[in-house]
Amino acid sequence: MTTTILSAASLAPAIEALRKGQVVAFPTETVYGLGADGLNGAACRKIFDAKGRPQDNPLILHVLDRAGLLDLISTPLASWTAALIEAFWPGPLTVVVQAAKSIPDVVRAGLDTVAVRAPSHPVARQLIAGVGSPIAAPSANVSGRPSPTTAEAVYEDMNGRIPFIIDGGGTRLGLESTVVDCIREPVTVLRPGAISVEMLASVVGEVRTAKPDGPARAPGMRYRHYAPEAPLLWIQSTDPGAVLPILNALRLEYPRLGLIAPDPFPVKEGSLFQSLGPDEVTAANRLFSSIRILDHLEPNAIVILWNSETGLGLAITNRIGKAATRRIVP
Ligand code: AMP
Ligand code: MG
Repeated sequence: MTTTILSAASLAPAIEALRKGQVVAFPTETVYGLGADGLNGAACRKIFDAKGRPQDNPLILHVLDRAGLLDLISTPLASWTAALIEAFWPGPLTVVVQAAKSIPDVVRAGLDTVAVRAPSHPVARQLIAGVGSPIAAPSANVSGRPSPTTAEAVYEDMNGRIPFIIDGGGTRLGLESTVVDCIREPVTVLRPGAISVEMLASVVGEVRTAKPDGPARAPGMRYRHYAPEAPLLWIQSTDPGAVLPILNALRLEYPRLGLIAPDPFPVKEGSLFQSLGPDEVTAANRLFSSIRILDHLEPNAIVILWNSETGLGLAITNRIGKAATRRIVP
């Protein structure tokens, strides 16, 4: 299959392809998505084929608004879910709710719940409106690889596997949406994201966070994710005094060492250094692209320095934790 890159100004071929049950990659404000008509089970199965995604990892359905969500649920909208979407839609918040029978089994991975989000990105919204159906979309990477934040990164993974990639430039946030289990109160964060635990709590009061070793409500939480080819070593500190001796020791084991760190960090490894920038918003935006850029340089290992678990920092910690082969606590 030939993969054509489309400009965001000419979406007609993409809408046509989606209507015909084909798979199209498109930009959202979080990361690039791999979309198909969310009510067409055969179309959604093509997403799993293109990504090599395990069948027991459900998809997120993308809608325009609250009315789009109401079409997908079997029970009345809970007051806490209504409050959350009122506060954060359109935006990077996915709610897990009781699914209507009409939703294909493959989208729900056999669960009786469904994950739904209203994206704010104009291209995503034009596709949903143009197709006239919710669009099922996971991140547009090969399963297990870092999520794509540019059309080039999508092409790297999806060339030859899908007909169209819509190029909308770099994504604004760079991390996937916050996924919240809204089946019962208090709501539970299944995957942290740009809508932080603190922001959720300001709307609904009590918020739980899923224990990584607890019973898996979201099957996708089990898999290793976001991983480069090189081993990814996570040092849970940004203090040069603590980090430098560890880096020196690691260099004996891995002579060509890639380094990803927030600013300011005193040691830059020449071309093998990628900065996460001065704040968490920038770090979230650069995380996946930094991992991909360094991986292209074929280092023996990539070291990432990160040590924050509040606000957006928790989402970054979550992604690094799933990608890392080793965690080093000084
Ligand atoms: P992605 O693979 O980037 O599309 O992420 C989708 C995320 O949403 C995964 O972590 C899924 O496990 C989660 N998810 C989707 N549907 C459900 C559901 N019905 N219940 C719980 N989590 C879900
Ligand atoms: Mg993904």
